[in-house]
Amino acid sequence: MNNWQEEFACSYNDTEALSHFLDKPINKTDFPVFIPRALACKIKELGPESALWKQFIPKELEDASYVQKDGLYDPIGDGVKKATKQIIHRYQNRVLFLPTSNCPVTCRFCFRKNEIANNDKIFSSEFNETLYYLNNAKEVNEIIFSGGDSFILSDKKLYSYLLAFSKIPHIKFIRFHTKTVTTLPSRITPKFVNILKDASKLFKRVNIVLHINHIEELYQESRSAIGNLQETGIELLSQTVLLNGINDDKGTLFDLFEQLNNLNIRPYYLHHPDKVKGAMHFYLPESRGQQIYKDLRRLLPGWALPQYVIDSSDGSGKKAVL
Ligand SMILES: *Cc1c(COP(=O)(O)O)cnc(C)c1O
Ligand code: SF4
Repeated sequence: MNNWQEEFACSYNDTEALSHFLDKPINKTDFPVFIPRALACKIKELGPESALWKQFIPKELEDASYVQKDGLYDPIGDGVKKATKQIIHRYQNRVLFLPTSNCPVTCRFCFRKNEIANNDKIFSSEFNETLYYLNNAKEVNEIIFSGGDSFILSDKKLYSYLLAFSKIPHIKFIRFHTKTVTTLPSRITPKFVNILKDASKLFKRVNIVLHINHIEELYQESRSAIGNLQETGIELLSQTVLLNGINDDKGTLFDLFEQLNNLNIRPYYLHHPDKVKGAMHFYLPESRGQQIYKDLRRLLPGWALPQYVIDSSDGSGKKAVL
């Protein structure tokens, strides 16, 4: 395929085609399916027991949990803290900016799975509202691109957001939270890398936080995309969601954090899973997470270990689990 947009557009987005490709029956579920082809090939290669398969291929358990009382539609209280349509302002000096509800992939465990199923609207008036809000919020010094996933935006759109933010004098830091690098690595083009490099000069500091849950996400193409990003001089961090049946043991997480450190990516957060309606089969009790984290403390030095945090459902934010 010629470019990442084409690959993105050709992603598997219905259960039947995906089922046919994987040669396995797949349940139709309420939360849509969306998987880029190159990633789908990896998933097929690694098979149903793999962490990749479990993260992205739908299961009947998803819909079953809608019938049960378990799980929340808005598990971290995003709705409570919305300052504008695109801004979540939970902590005094930093905001989440949500420029898109599109993602490179649909993760079955997503904490926003009950929000992002809807498509994007055109958002120029929304962005004016966002700029107005940020210009007046003088206590805010950091904008965190979240979503959806901002790396799915076109080069032009992303750069124009960054340029607009660079004109707000009190904005010093930019952060991206993204899963694109490991799910649609072709998106990390030389041009995109240059845009990020230019953008990093407009601010005091730019950080990129990669969402990576398992070592299987570090395959040849994603590793090379990571290498290209590192040429910008931007610091790479990682966040990992602890997930039942995927990475909930010390060996798996040790391998992941060790590998991330080898790639010069600093493990930043280990998130306790949220109680997401439709994803409760990924949930595990805090006591189990605490035991795993205690074991990891013995295996890894402090600088190689992420902070283990949990989000409160009332929108009050992250708290250390241990
Ligand atoms: C996690 C989060 C942030 C970022 O928090 P840091 O502690 O700076 O990593 C900001 N806003 C919201 C709403 C968050 O959930
Ligand atoms: S990339 Fe992030 S926001 Fe998008 S589906 Fe996955 S976890 Fe959810």
